[in-house]
Amino acid sequence: MSTTGSNHDPAHPREAEVIEALRTSRPITRAAIAEATGLSRTTVSAVIAPLLEEGTVVVAGHEDHPGRGRPTERIEIDLDAISALGIDLAHGAVRIAALNIVGDALTTGSREHPEDLGWEERLGIVRELLEELALPAAMPSLRGVGLGVPGPAAFLHRADAPWQRLVDDLQGRFGAEVRVDNTTRYAAFAEHLAAPRRDRITLHVRCYQGVGGAVVREARIDRGAAGLAGEIGHLQVEFPGAPCRCGRRGCLETVASTPSVLAACRALGLGLHTVEQLHQELASGRGRVDPVLTRAAEGLAHALVLAVTMVDPEEILLSGDLFDAGDALLDRVRGLVAREAGARFPAVRLGPGRLSSDAGALGAALPFTHPRPSTGRTVIA
Ligand SMILES: [Zn+2]
Repeated sequence: MSTTGSNHDPAHPREAEVIEALRTSRPITRAAIAEATGLSRTTVSAVIAPLLEEGTVVVAGHEDHPGRGRPTERIEIDLDAISALGIDLAHGAVRIAALNIVGDALTTGSREHPEDLGWEERLGIVRELLEELALPAAMPSLRGVGLGVPGPAAFLHRADAPWQRLVDDLQGRFGAEVRVDNTTRYAAFAEHLAAPRRDRITLHVRCYQGVGGAVVREARIDRGAAGLAGEIGHLQVEFPGAPCRCGRRGCLETVASTPSVLAACRALGLGLHTVEQLHQELASGRGRVDPVLTRAAEGLAHALVLAVTMVDPEEILLSGDLFDAGDALLDRVRGLVAREAGARFPAVRLGPGRLSSDAGALGAALPFTHPRPSTGRTVIA
């Protein structure tokens, strides 16, 4: 995770508790916040002062005390103040989400583009979308911008990474901290927070142009020592298997990514070149894609059984172009994982991702906020 400088002071260490008190019973006085949180009035005032100054909270009224000095202020969260921006640059689209301090999405925008669009054009789309969202000219409440990008973790922070210039632009434009991470991790983070009950460990696997995975533990993204945790797409699942773009053979990505599945369909004589064509073929029920789905399912199940053994998650979520077309692949994977690992890990649940394609953008912004506990339906209120 890379960080660039910020004009925004670091949040007070007790900020989350104060926001929690404001969220559950607003508007309230500083004294009431102190009572609800157990913090001293001095600490509450120290937390509130910068929040008031930046506009994250506002004075919403006064409480009169006849004969006992001046009225005290009632404070509430300004739910329209933008605290975080998330930008997702992966999977054939640019997606942007603006969140308030409790993680509600205030506005979102997206534009699809060809998967092979050059980086210069993609960054141009980001600038255009930011204009279209008509964000306030000045956003003193903005704590940071999360940028979700594709590709292996080792590539994220290289000086010659194509999004580095965007990082500099965003920092200059917003004067806020900019963090870069793999979009799969951000999507997994949003999915984790959207779980109906706050699961402790979520494993999320996404199959698009590539195959990525991420583990979120106790509302924290698990990055590992070298930032490589969760790189499930390059586990070998076929021996020797087809060549992979990573230089090795038989990786999960060679059987379960969208391009590999389309190529396998064409090798069977099916003229499938796009996700839409693949979805139509699956919907036709002719079963001509079955061998390709079975191979992808076996690869996914093999990798997931290894991952389950190491991570022991409560829940595995699968997202991607192939899972958007119905439950054919999901059901196969579920059956194979249950057969291989079911007896040892009976409690693990395996299902589709819950969030829309905005998950990556939401997850990129959420770490700068204090999200509400999930209702189980959606991460946005
Ligand atoms: Zn590979």
